[in-house]
Amino acid sequence: MTTAVITGAASGMGRASVEALRDLADVIVAVDLTTPSIEGTIGVSCDISDPADVAALVAEVRGHGPLRALVHAAGISPTMGDARRVFEVDLVGTHLLLEGFEGLVVPGTAAVCFSSSAAYQIAPFTQPEWDELVDDPGADDFLDRASSAITDSGLAYGMAKRGVVRAVGRASLRWGPLGGRVNSVAPGLIDTPMGRQELEQQPMMQGMLAGTPLGRLGDPAEVAAAVAYLVSDAASFITGIDLLVDGGMIRGQGIF
Ligand code: NAD
Repeated sequence: MTTAVITGAASGMGRASVEALRDLADVIVAVDLTTPSIEGTIGVSCDISDPADVAALVAEVRGHGPLRALVHAAGISPTMGDARRVFEVDLVGTHLLLEGFEGLVVPGTAAVCFSSSAAYQIAPFTQPEWDELVDDPGADDFLDRASSAITDSGLAYGMAKRGVVRAVGRASLRWGPLGGRVNSVAPGLIDTPMGRQELEQQPMMQGMLAGTPLGRLGDPAEVAAAVAYLVSDAASFITGIDLLVDGGMIRGQGIF
């Protein structure tokens, strides 16, 4: 009996990932702030930014059999919280899950976290001190230091997601010798409740959409297809990478 865990499973790309992974594992654990009710899955409520909640989730999953996959899609956007809460959910939460599930890694375990194209957009503005900061999300004073160094929630989002890419890279070094793989996907503008909220509330997003080579929003299923590939055995030699799934948006902006 193998198990796949999907966070943010109630909405958007987490929900689409549940559908994309249905044949991968015997048991699918669907995780969100309030218990998701999705046919054929076990629903668990968990605030992934709360260490006690994450410890309880890991303990529950341990009882279901070997961990085949962890897909961590839960997150908030810049219009959903202040800089501190963005760092807490998007970076500390990812750190807690990667650390917590490390004890369940067996040969064949694969994880995919969610970064963002914002991690690339922030690259020209980042500073070495900020990278040092986001590389230490487990420190007791991390949230105090991060939210006083970076007060703008949009900047915090980009740095938190850059921190996710870097945390995934570090985790791949630890998981590899255990036979496990860890990667991330970086969605561009995707048609989810979060994506639509950002488009409505941040006028610059319309320009980003207009400059996207494929000229449209992505569908959550298109990102879930990339997630399914990365956790599948077809990607058995891929670990420690971040895969942009953005319709070419970052290319359109001339970022690389
Ligand atoms: P969404 O808002 O549709 O779904 C996110 C889910 O995460 C929700 O069900 C929410 O309840 C859950 N969640 C939020 N905070 C949580 C917490 N503390 N604990 C547990 N669950 C929590 O969002 P989405 O668009 O599907 O985004 C999925 C991921 O992709 C996020 O990490 C987001 O930052 C990232 N992303 C989204 C876009 C986009 O355009 N939509 C672009 C780039 C990156």
